[in-house]
Amino acid sequence: MGQEDINPCITCGACCALFRASFYWAEADDAGGTVPVDLTEQLNAFRRVMKGTNDPSPRCVALVGEIGRQIYCSIYDHRSSVCRDFPVAWENGLPNERCDKARLAWGLPPLLQPTANPAETPDDPTTTMPPSTRPPLPRAA
Ligand code: SF4
Ligand code: SF4
Repeated sequence: MGQEDINPCITCGACCALFRASFYWAEADDAGGTVPVDLTEQLNAFRRVMKGTNDPSPRCVALVGEIGRQIYCSIYDHRSSVCRDFPVAWENGLPNERCDKARLAWGLPPLLQPTANPAETPDDPTTTMPPSTRPPLPRAA
């Protein structure tokens, strides 16, 4: 497995400890959604927020581990749309300034755009695919 195949989120977690993770209230499991309501608090009439992410020093209560070392989301399969929709930088070949901002806030360098490895079987067209056509990295935190 090459370096570019490793999901960078599992050694990061910075976005879960910088941004407010708020979502439509009905995504909580007391309203038919998936997000454990006990891990949320009401933000306003229409939105709930992951506990911890609306604090002065934000950190989601569902985040487990040490930021920048080893980390995971304890409700990964049940996380809200705002978490599911946050792309790691260069997912689908696109940058994400908010991913960069979160990492910088935690002293981590922005992720570099993946490049094709010219040393690998250059006649195989799949090895020369541009980064934008590679499979996306799943977000783990
Ligand atoms: S999306 Fe970016 S900031 Fe969030 S955990 Fe992944 S690499 Fe870190
Ligand atoms: S991905 Fe998980 S740990 Fe990160 S903000 Fe969402 S619920 Fe919290």
